[in-house]
Amino acid sequence: MSAVDNLAAIKQKISRAERKAEREAGDVELVAVSKTFEAEAIRPVIEAGQRVFGENRVQEAQAKWPALRAEFPDLELHLIGPLQSNKAADAVALFDVIETVDREKIAAALASECAKQNRQLQFYVQVNIGEEEQKAGISPIETLAFVERCRDVHKLDVVGLMCIPPVDEAPGPHFALLRKLAREAGVEKLSMGMSADFEIAIGFGATSVRVGSAIFGTR
Ligand SMILES: *Cc1c(COP(=O)(O)O)cnc(C)c1O
Repeated sequence: MSAVDNLAAIKQKISRAERKAEREAGDVELVAVSKTFEAEAIRPVIEAGQRVFGENRVQEAQAKWPALRAEFPDLELHLIGPLQSNKAADAVALFDVIETVDREKIAAALASECAKQNRQLQFYVQVNIGEEEQKAGISPIETLAFVERCRDVHKLDVVGLMCIPPVDEAPGPHFALLRKLAREAGVEKLSMGMSADFEIAIGFGATSVRVGSAIFGTR
């Protein structure tokens, strides 16, 4: 199967999961995760109509996306990997949505770069939903206060929460907790679900799913 065939199959599965969850058709946005794949592998997927893509490294994205964006001006690029403050300027210049805001220092750096570059991005706060030591994200208990600081102190346009559940646990309860936290924090969007569990995530209210290997193949 080509990436274009895979894309069509994933879109069908998303539609089916939307119906099953009694959600409106088109409710769930597909973020095609193209990390590690080169521009030539990505282009057919763009030509097939996909416009929203996710990358997890700023430098890698800088190497392949400016040329594609020149060709396809209506692309939307999401940063879904950890961000260091010394990369904040580059990230703000390249991405439209940053899904990995998880600490004060990075929130401040992003706010200052947005002002400096006169750029308006959307942001998600990443939650370490399984409270795993090695994983990025703010802890669930600190999420509400952190979202408030991002909005009120740093004036970031926080639209939602993002999470990556522990690999060795059933994802459902983690997705449910993210939804509850989003409701408490007063944000609407939920970025949750990857190749292995996006249909489950849609059942728990995901508004966007980040699917990589099921479209582009194994990395
Ligand atoms: C790589 C990645 C994905 C996509 O994972 P697949 O299992 O390949 O679908 C989604 N979200 C994040 C944060 C990632 O780093």
